[in-house]
Amino acid sequence: MTNEILILPGDGIGPEIMNEAIKIIDVCKKKGLEVILRYAKIGGDAIDTFGVPLPNETINMAKNARAILLGAVGGAKWDCLDIYNRPEKGLLKLRKSLNLFCNIRPIFLYKQLSEASSLKIEVISGLNIIIVRELIGGIYFGQPRGFNNYSGIRCGYNTCIYDETQIRNIGRVAFEIAINRKKRLCSIDKANVLETSMLWREVMCSLAYEYKDVELSHMYIDNAAMQLVREPKQFDVIVTDNMFGDIISDEAAMLTGSIGMLPSASLNNEGKGIFEPCHGSAPDIAGKNIANPLAMILSLAMMLRYSLFNTKLAERIENAVSNVLDWNLRTYDIAGDFKTRIISTKELGNMILEAF
Ligand code: NAD
Repeated sequence: MTNEILILPGDGIGPEIMNEAIKIIDVCKKKGLEVILRYAKIGGDAIDTFGVPLPNETINMAKNARAILLGAVGGAKWDCLDIYNRPEKGLLKLRKSLNLFCNIRPIFLYKQLSEASSLKIEVISGLNIIIVRELIGGIYFGQPRGFNNYSGIRCGYNTCIYDETQIRNIGRVAFEIAINRKKRLCSIDKANVLETSMLWREVMCSLAYEYKDVELSHMYIDNAAMQLVREPKQFDVIVTDNMFGDIISDEAAMLTGSIGMLPSASLNNEGKGIFEPCHGSAPDIAGKNIANPLAMILSLAMMLRYSLFNTKLAERIENAVSNVLDWNLRTYDIAGDFKTRIISTKELGNMILEAF
């Protein structure tokens, strides 16, 4: 198997936070990690150079790589382009072309950050949830889609479609994760209204026969959105479709204080994946050296765990993050109370290296 890691810094704060992750990879290499870094362009960065958000060269390099580390894509500069040529399309196409059907988002609250959340400490302390989101099906990819004009009145339309194989594949991953945790899985859908959700629920129930040790429950998405802020600790593992997962994982992110803390992994059947922060390119703070690099650094830890099977180095990174938070050093988004010192993106990256 190749030991190439493809680095896609992308747009906005992407390159800044990626620099901090690369510093850690360099130290890991000195400690024996055998990887070769390759670099390519995606998103607005690729549009500016090649005129397209996902050049063929990037797709080929991604196919050859063992894992991909991505910053973020997008920004106002490219919002004027038609919807099919915007930076975000490049990322969607890359996920699809690598068959990355499974998105894993750990929603973990570092105890040092309890005060950074807008929720009461007793509601969120000890929070540790995993959201498993189907990533290459549903309304984001369904055909037909487009715009139409009926007698002078414009309309836009999309198609939400899932087949049972897609649902079974993501369901299986979620059951496997649940069986190795608290053996509780909550499937989130809208089965009281949508046919795709009715099929989703049926397939999840059929899988439950194979995983008799796992307690499967179901919740409608509207209720789940409410329960996540009312009593988030009732959840352990959540499985849901592409659009519902997109929305509730951002909601869940805020339980942990900042979206700047949350990593994610998007995987295919062979464990190959794109590892990236849950947040976007944050154009409002790009270039200011104030972005939180921890979601990017924790995405690197996920890459070491899921694609390179190096749990030891992954744990060292996670412990280093915890130590730096213990030292009360923070970027502004997780500043908390007067005891903390606000430092820059680069300084926080250097502190992680010191704690590593
Ligand atoms: P965003 O996640 O970029 O930003 C939302 C808010 O969170 C902003 O106030 C931002 O400053 C803050 N934030 C995000 N990451 C942070 C960090 N690491 N440290 C501190 N603060 C942080 O979402 P948005 O503003 O809706 O989108 C901006 C652009 O990113 C858009 O073009 C969007 O399409 C794109 N986007 C890309 C991805 C991706 O690359 N996977 C995901 C979501 C959005």
